[in-house]
Amino acid sequence: MTTARSENFPESIIRENIKRLTPYSTARDESNAGYGTYLDANENPYNMGYNRYPDPHHKLLKRELALKKGVNEDMIFAGNGSDEAIDLIMRVFCEPRRDNIVSISPTYGMYKVAASINDIEYREAPLKVDFTLDTQALVNLSDNNSKVIFLCSPNNPTGNLLDKEAVLGIVKKFKGIVVVDEAYGDFSGDEGYIPLLSEYPNLIVLQTMSKSMGMAALRVGFAFGNARVITYLNRVKYPYNLNRISQELAIKRIREGSKTLGGILSERERVASSLRELSEVVKVYDSNANFLLVKFRNATEMYNLLLNNGVIVRDRSKVSGCEGCLRITIGKPAENDRLIMLISNFGKEPFIFPLNPFVEVSRITRETAITLKADFTGAGLSSLNTGIGFFDHMLEQISTHGGISLDIDVSGDLWVDFHHTVEDVAIVLGDALNRYFTSAGNYERYGFSLPMDESEATVLIDLGGRAGFNWKVDFRGDKIGEFPCEMFAHFFSTLASAGKFTLNVKAEGENDHHKAEAVFKAFARALKMALASGNLQSVPSSKGII
Ligand code: PMP
Repeated sequence: MTTARSENFPESIIRENIKRLTPYSTARDESNAGYGTYLDANENPYNMGYNRYPDPHHKLLKRELALKKGVNEDMIFAGNGSDEAIDLIMRVFCEPRRDNIVSISPTYGMYKVAASINDIEYREAPLKVDFTLDTQALVNLSDNNSKVIFLCSPNNPTGNLLDKEAVLGIVKKFKGIVVVDEAYGDFSGDEGYIPLLSEYPNLIVLQTMSKSMGMAALRVGFAFGNARVITYLNRVKYPYNLNRISQELAIKRIREGSKTLGGILSERERVASSLRELSEVVKVYDSNANFLLVKFRNATEMYNLLLNNGVIVRDRSKVSGCEGCLRITIGKPAENDRLIMLISNFGKEPFIFPLNPFVEVSRITRETAITLKADFTGAGLSSLNTGIGFFDHMLEQISTHGGISLDIDVSGDLWVDFHHTVEDVAIVLGDALNRYFTSAGNYERYGFSLPMDESEATVLIDLGGRAGFNWKVDFRGDKIGEFPCEMFAHFFSTLASAGKFTLNVKAEGENDHHKAEAVFKAFARALKMALASGNLQSVPSSKGII
């Protein structure tokens, strides 16, 4: 257990106004009543899931994290991402227009931006060419008004761990606060600086749930330090800086741990060694993070080639110290394969790039909110949540027989009827299909299918970039279970028009359920055929043609 020695904390470096500050006290803090009828916070009394304010002190979250990290709860500040802690550290310690902070270069851009927003001078000591710390340069830059030194280890975008002895040398010498940002620490295998907090009252460690823990959207980050520093950060934060959903999910994730860390680390090694073999690659820097800094012969053209083929990396080639470099985050194995394939074919024209198989579409209207993720390599599992069981079952046919992994989440106005949900899923799925077949590359374009069991369905597809729809399917009843049969034609016509392709559907059979299923199955098979990757003789992508 690490306990920090607060008594040696240099209180004098706190800004005077912050020392004097009477922080906002929430309604619940004032009564300190554990349970009762809450008429104190002007909340809505009706429990619709989120009517009460979240815990401003994040007690359960801190309890869980304290156990995990072996620290006292009072050594933890929980913020809306570690970006919040970066900003608050500046606000607690630095007097605008008088004080300065010192950092390294290149490093994470938010230190400079937060300093600038707070009107605090920002000084940067360049790393040496091998990205190691230039301790002397840092010391030379600091003066009596330097209140905070920001270090990042593993550093972004260089990916390397800073030398611990060198960092601790700075912590010992420097009169102000030294922040070590360990956003990427979990990828390094190093135990980091938290165990050292007990020895150094002027040390703050930042960590985040956005990287190894996979929770970037929920915005949860932490600062660890001695209890005095943490008290001040808590006093200046917004009272309810972390919403309840984020707190709850963070607790759950901390208990579970990261299930993806090992896979990302082995992919990092695989990608690094594959890239080292390629002629366009000048250097792959050793990485202790979940990204690689890679120097290319021609970084700008490589960046554009990747972007034009749907692979987005970070261009760091204009950043001082990273000239000619792109920063590449480690993705899933199939994504990394595509990256390597594209880089290895740089300059080899004419080369047919397979279509980009990963498509994500979100759409929010008054009636529905839909997120769709499609993986056209079909490598993953599907998860279909439209709220309509039968419709999920039909979409599953597209996934299984079309070789497309589909994650579809819908919250729709099912209390009205199924119409908007079915229609909007067709729009989003059509849009995803269109994005896929108009991405760079070639595909067969035409597809047909007539699978037959007791029902018979014929589907013809032309992915030519123009919408068309022909439907010859009669259902015996009006509904299958709760699902109105008229919605099938509506689904497919909307799909064809959103996807800008031509679709001909015919079906016959005794049983409506089987007939519908045969149509979805035949559609999926025909689609798979039309999307099959082409060769130089086959029809080129319609991108830029139609
Ligand atoms: N520190 C570093 C070094 C980072 O790279 C990032 C995000 N890219 C952050 C902090 C911010 O993380 P968070 O999502 O917790 O705000």
